[in-house]
Amino acid sequence: MSDHQIVWLRNDLRSADHPALFHACNAARDSGGTVTALYIATPAQWAYHDEAAAKLALRSGLLTDLRGRLAERGVDFTLLECPRYADIPALLRSFAEQSGATAVWYNADYPLDELNRDNATDAALAAAGIAAKRCDGDMLLAEPTLNGQGLPYKVFTPWYRDWLRKVEQNGLPALPEPEPVGSALAAVAEPVALPGASSYRDDLWPASEAAAQQRLGQFAAQQRARYGELRDIPSVNGTSTLSVYLASGVLTVRQIFAAVVGDCEATGSNWRDDHWFRELGWREFYKNLMIHFPALSRGAAFKSETEALHWQRDQPLNLLWQRGQTGYPIVDAAMRQLQRTGWMHNRLRMITASFYTKLLFMDWRDGEAFFMRSLLDGDFASNNGGWQWSASTGCDASPWFRIFSPLRQSEKFDPDGAFIRKMVPELAGVDGKQIHNPPSAVRQACGYPEPIVDYSQARAAALAAFKALTNG
Ligand SMILES: Cc1cc2nc3c(=O)[nH]c(=O)nc-3n(C[C@H](O)[C@H](O)[C@H](O)COP(=O)(O)OP(=O)(O)OC[C@H]3O[C@@H](n4cnc5c(N)ncnc54)[C@H](O)[C@@H]3O)c2cc1C
Repeated sequence: MSDHQIVWLRNDLRSADHPALFHACNAARDSGGTVTALYIATPAQWAYHDEAAAKLALRSGLLTDLRGRLAERGVDFTLLECPRYADIPALLRSFAEQSGATAVWYNADYPLDELNRDNATDAALAAAGIAAKRCDGDMLLAEPTLNGQGLPYKVFTPWYRDWLRKVEQNGLPALPEPEPVGSALAAVAEPVALPGASSYRDDLWPASEAAAQQRLGQFAAQQRARYGELRDIPSVNGTSTLSVYLASGVLTVRQIFAAVVGDCEATGSNWRDDHWFRELGWREFYKNLMIHFPALSRGAAFKSETEALHWQRDQPLNLLWQRGQTGYPIVDAAMRQLQRTGWMHNRLRMITASFYTKLLFMDWRDGEAFFMRSLLDGDFASNNGGWQWSASTGCDASPWFRIFSPLRQSEKFDPDGAFIRKMVPELAGVDGKQIHNPPSAVRQACGYPEPIVDYSQARAAALAAFKALTNG
């Protein structure tokens, strides 16, 4: 029997810089064997993990695109389904046995449920005499970064300095697309349709690896230089919006690193000082935290003392925030951007999460789950990190006494109200500075609500709650 390799696809829907695919194809070519790429839909697990229906629609498109790219390389594609991760070991073992596979290749994943799934699958495959080959995941370093005492960092800046040094020495290279393992296979016309998928804004994020690569090349070469200046202004396209592609693994941080270094070398600048690349550091920092502190994957606050806070769970307030009807124009504009596009600008994520946790004093875990159910770029580590940062419960979080004023944030980052006018059409005709906090008469005339919470009172209450915590 010829040698057969399986590549198990998960959050890595690409053909380039895909270690599992690359090595499986090499192994198959060496032995004259074949390769099947396998994707396993787990709808009950996805529901439990608050996976967004829109993100599943994006993934359906990405799998359709990837299936075509793989077929050109002689790699066929199979979609299987089982309810939960717990069902995967038996399903994958039986699929591997039936197809006569000698090895199953996959790229590492970091959150706890995924890790447990992979360990159980490795054991099931080993019991059947099939090799499980775990490859590098989507980080620049194969291992998380530890400090001089061999302990995890808890503050970003020293972690980043050390990480940069290690990236320079041992950063993983981006692998090319694999060479074909055989003749091209016939194209399949029927698109892949994942269970639970709805629709998404494919005009903004085409479901294609080529489109993702093109956007990366364009941003790295043309827009990156002005990133520091424009990144906080939601009304301009000052950030890359590549998070959507990164979260589904259409791109890797290694490819981004290569693009940044390449462009810096071409323009005579230093990639170590690159502001955009530093933000990508946060992504890897949060992945490191997820690996070092498994309790984060179980909904625990990083700062355990903050578990004593009495967060609210008020459904009517929750719904007004979710729908963008809080009466705070910048908050509502942000929440409506999320509804309209499945993405939200980073400055606005900080404003809306601070509003939710500090002014409504709602449990950050509920906000985190709502973001996950809504975002096309929902990423467990970054979302958890962002929410815990905002709620001041997290590692290297915003200090508890720092409470964003939605009004000040609006005046500073949307000074002429262009973003609010675009996202909150009922306020489009409001003049000048009034846009940030329209008077009651204007609100009534526009059909726009009064603020659902009084900023000064809510701020004072949040400060008192956190202060009580520090006083023990
Ligand atoms: C409450 C909250 C929730 C968040 N949830 C997510 C999430 O689910 N998924 C997600 O990818 N990011 C999340 N972020 C981080 C950040 O908002 C997004 O990564 C960023 O807005 C994506 O837009 P971009 O691709 O244009 O970013 P750019 O500014 O172009 O940055 C490039 C890349 O760097 C990474 N990055 C940038 N800023 C951060 C950051 N603060 N933390 C982690 N990574 C960062 C992202 O991968 C991003 O694509 C969250 C932040 C907050 C405050």
